Amino acid sequence: MTYVAVPISAQSVDQASRQIREAAAAGAEMLELRTDYLDRLDRDSVVALIAEAKGTIPASIPVIATCRDPREGGVGNHPESLRTEILLAAIEAGADFIDLEYANFIQPEIGQRTKSALASRPRSRLILSAHDFQGKVAEVRRLHRDILQACPDAIPKLVYTANHINDCFDAFDLLHETQGDRIVLCMGQAGLISRILAKKLGGFVTFASINDQAATAPGQLTVGSLKGLYRNDFMNAETELFGVIADPVGHSLSPAIHNACFAEKGMNRLYLPLLVQGGQPQFNQFLDSVLARPWLDFRGFSVTIPYKHSALKYVHEKGGFVEPLADKIGAANTLILDPQATSDEWQIRAYNTDYAGALDAITAGMGIERGGLRDVPVAVVGAGGVSRAIVAGLTDAGAKVTIYNRTMERAEGLATEFGCQFAGLDELSGMNARLLVNCTSIGMHPNVDVAPVPAEYLKPDMTVFDTVYNPAETLLLRQAKQKGAKTIDGLAMFVNQAAAQFKPFTGHEADRDLMRRVVMGSLR
Ligand code: NAP
Repeated sequence: MTYVAVPISAQSVDQASRQIREAAAAGAEMLELRTDYLDRLDRDSVVALIAEAKGTIPASIPVIATCRDPREGGVGNHPESLRTEILLAAIEAGADFIDLEYANFIQPEIGQRTKSALASRPRSRLILSAHDFQGKVAEVRRLHRDILQACPDAIPKLVYTANHINDCFDAFDLLHETQGDRIVLCMGQAGLISRILAKKLGGFVTFASINDQAATAPGQLTVGSLKGLYRNDFMNAETELFGVIADPVGHSLSPAIHNACFAEKGMNRLYLPLLVQGGQPQFNQFLDSVLARPWLDFRGFSVTIPYKHSALKYVHEKGGFVEPLADKIGAANTLILDPQATSDEWQIRAYNTDYAGALDAITAGMGIERGGLRDVPVAVVGAGGVSRAIVAGLTDAGAKVTIYNRTMERAEGLATEFGCQFAGLDELSGMNARLLVNCTSIGMHPNVDVAPVPAEYLKPDMTVFDTVYNPAETLLLRQAKQKGAKTIDGLAMFVNQAAAQFKPFTGHEADRDLMRRVVMGSLR
């Protein structure tokens, strides 16, 4: 069992009463009463607080009483003697667990008093915790051993700050290598996945807050997102993992759309946001760490800014399979892993679903097959990353592409590489295109009142495709519709590229309507 514990960080028993009800309604499976937050900290308040919790929640929801030492993240400057009294009172009042800092427990007097209080109330258990707010604990395995040596019945709780996602692997290893009740978590944004994966890896507790404001540690998720978006209730040791590697990653819609599809199909799979900061070395280290731990069950990744080229390089270096057009584009946005593969099989494969997603959106919008793109005159506006993928796909299909861009050298470079024409934005007036594709960010939220191409250049016999998907209907698309042109929105490409990842991730077709609904809902 991995409990989802919700910290109650109230300044009074009345305030706590409201928080306890909210926590229970949100799906708390355990409560942590952070008594150090109380304005009036004394035995009576703590007894009242525990009585309030026990009277409000079902008996199946255990209660931890904590009076955190300020040196380990506690609030207020309560003296050590008072903190000890509070925990002893909590045991007497029926707390199911008390959380005491290991560093304090090994002081003989505190250790002795705690042990004898617990001996007289054997239903209460001791959590011995150690927190490091600076960074990784140097010898986390030894600390775990030391805690159990000091008190074999205790539940070791080791919490440290992950300054990089790669710092989480020590925590995962400790959970993987040890048995019994133990809590191992990483704080900070980089440690987020340790909170989500606690259940898969058998941690005794993961902590989640009622809402963003009530978080008691950096990087804590809300119960709503842990149980909703990250499907905590459905997770178990066999859950297969996927994720989007990016920096930044917080804005990514991919976890919402892939997890919604996993849920809809009842799949034991989970998709994570993976904040990998740094550059190629950190990216490589992340993937090396994943491949070295097949028991994590990572099966695939979406890769986005700034790692699409790094992904390609990594797979080449590992001797994996690279889709030829991904190689030509110079970017991979999809990695498929088979960590069980033998040495003569591919452990890792790289694909680019951006171009395929765009081409599928274009052909569906124009009502043609890919072969129908041969010799079609196309104007592509923009010469960045998205343009590159689309130009590669269109030229591969035989379209006659002209690239228009603000910076001529960029347009020229791309045109030379893919054998097409190029021009400046001021030459758009003379364009002769059946298909117009906007690959710039012009028109994207919040600057929604601008368009990359003046309305007078649009014609009724054109198809206009805007890769911008926020908003779904851009000014360019509205103006094109007014001219009677066919339109294709960026959501179609976005959903197609995600659906094209879902297939190799799972072997099943994605529900594109569901993906589109999730994206629309998130953008709203
Ligand atoms: P990028 O590599 O930064 O390229 C941006 C392009 O836009 C460049 O060609 C740039 O011209 C041009 N540009 C930007 N601001 C401009 C302005 N004010 N006036 C004229 N040109 C301007 O970005 P990207 O990764 O290719 O992404 C481009 C857009 O694609 C994004 O904004 C996003 O809306 C969309 N997108 C869609 C999807 C999807 O699935 N639908 C996925 C990813 C991105 P210069 O070369 O002169 O700087």
